[in-house]
Amino acid sequence: MNDNETQQMAQPIYYDDGRVIHACDSAITDRGVRLVWTKCDMDVPEDRSFTVEGEAPAISCPECLARIG
Ligand SMILES: [Zn+2]
Repeated sequence: MNDNETQQMAQPIYYDDGRVIHACDSAITDRGVRLVWTKCDMDVPEDRSFTVEGEAPAISCPECLARIG
């Protein structure tokens, strides 16, 4: 099955704070500014977040892991 509509979803975003890798959420404000924050509610500087093509990195933040379920 080829579901092209899922291609429009944002890629998962990650943030490496130097100790652990967090899973992130993001949103575009009505001013076109992209906001990124971790699942454990840390603000992420936009230029520090990253996406990965292919194999996802292992999330190592325990709080993010708990919230992902
Ligand atoms: Zn986290």
